[in-house]
Amino acid sequence: MVQAVYLQTYGCQMNERDSEEILGMLIAHGYAIVEREEEADVILLNTCSVRAHAEERAFGKMGLMQKLKRERPELVLGILGCMAKAQREEVFRRLPQVDLVAGPAEIYDLPDLLAGVAERRQRAERGAGAHVLAVDRKVRPLDRRPVTGYRAGRVTAFVTIMEGCDKKCAYCIVPTTRGQEVSRPVDEILDEVQQLARAGYRQVILLGQNVNSYGKRFPDGSGWVGPARRRALLQLEARNGPGEADADPRATPRLVDFPALLRAIDRKTSIDRVRFTTSHPFDAHEELFRVMAECRAVCEFLHLPVQTGSDGILRAMRRGYTTETYLAQIARLRTLVPEVAVSTDIIVGFPGETETDFEATCALMERVRYDSAFVFKYSPRPGTEAAAWPDDVPQLVKERRNQVILELQARISREKLEAGVGSEVEVLVEERNRRGQLTGKSRGNTTVVIEGPDTLIGELVAARVTRVTGTTMIGELADCGERLTCGSGARSH
Ligand code: SAM
Ligand code: SF4
Repeated sequence: MVQAVYLQTYGCQMNERDSEEILGMLIAHGYAIVEREEEADVILLNTCSVRAHAEERAFGKMGLMQKLKRERPELVLGILGCMAKAQREEVFRRLPQVDLVAGPAEIYDLPDLLAGVAERRQRAERGAGAHVLAVDRKVRPLDRRPVTGYRAGRVTAFVTIMEGCDKKCAYCIVPTTRGQEVSRPVDEILDEVQQLARAGYRQVILLGQNVNSYGKRFPDGSGWVGPARRRALLQLEARNGPGEADADPRATPRLVDFPALLRAIDRKTSIDRVRFTTSHPFDAHEELFRVMAECRAVCEFLHLPVQTGSDGILRAMRRGYTTETYLAQIARLRTLVPEVAVSTDIIVGFPGETETDFEATCALMERVRYDSAFVFKYSPRPGTEAAAWPDDVPQLVKERRNQVILELQARISREKLEAGVGSEVEVLVEERNRRGQLTGKSRGNTTVVIEGPDTLIGELVAARVTRVTGTTMIGELADCGERLTCGSGARSH
């Protein structure tokens, strides 16, 4: 009998992409996907551990699912992803009805792991020993990546270009849960992007915890390895001109890094738009900004999380840059790509953050004038360096600082959006919203709403911005109503 699977995803875009791979793999193994928990034989949660709140949501949801299992004991419950890795056996302690706990490096084993659960049940092994726990792998085996066509969207597709993170930001659990960095080979990424373009996708979002460290380590052991070798290769590039990533990174002494990958995607595939996330400021170099200026497919949008405007807190966070170097990067970016939109992540209430530190963050935000920002209240994560320090900013203070930053950013975002009223933007139309209007994104990643027929879904159109509500631009199809084709569009936001 066909088994029905319900999968809910928490957290970042990398998790969303992992969930697509999981569903694709399960479909290939004969499972059916359902939209409601009540219809499922297998309920899986793909979880996030970045903040305690994300974990508590998953614990709460699985608690409810345990009630379903009391009525239907044959139900299989699984916790996947970062929380599985971070909490391990603790999941079984808090949620005794859960059958399977599998970390991010084990997702390709899922069909086997589910078969293992079924087998144990058949042998009528019950009790703690009947649980399946798979969390020990350090690196995801990229050579076992399943080739499945399952995607949630029809216009935009996520493409994971690397796994893991080698940074050691003092507050962050991701290096523990997602393991060591490893980059997918260039030719595999180029093939995937070209197949997506052929299948009608117009935009890809390249994913990695730190995309600017792409190419540091490939599965075959090659790569630029560390900053010293990267610098030497960069000097070579400066003499020979910028390179494109080659299919075989050993075939050439060229630097195969993120800018080179972007150039290769721009030249060798027919995808119309490329976005990427996330860029760590330590590894973002001027060549990235040049690529954004020169490659038509690469959208003029950069998410460059600063986290705080205080140098003391940046040091404690172990971010590896100062506000001065960060501001210099933003200035250089804006010189090379004047129309670029920039966003950031901010953490408020990091251990030791004083009112003066917080004011420095507000001042930096006024100075940079981001187009958008994500703000997080610091949440101690067991096992991270910062978790050993006193979480000494009171909750009420964190909440106030969070609110102040949100309001500050809302004002700046509104001012910037209003300045764009009357201008023409290139919109990639993605879908209809609940009000029946067409929505899409500008090159600068702003949501744009327009009226028009369904045939525009998946098209690049020129729209004139007539007004702004919240963080959305309201537009109308530009006079000609002409659809833009790749390479002919306006480049404003
Ligand atoms: N790799 C990305 C980078 O370096 O910017 C970000 C990945 S992280 C999953 C997304 C954001 O969550 C971070 O930029 C940070 O602002 C926030 N974050 C991470 N750990 C946190 C913690 N313990 N408490 C609050 N926010 C946190
Ligand atoms: Fe976490 Fe820092 Fe890695 Fe981003 S770069 S995932 S914040 S450790």
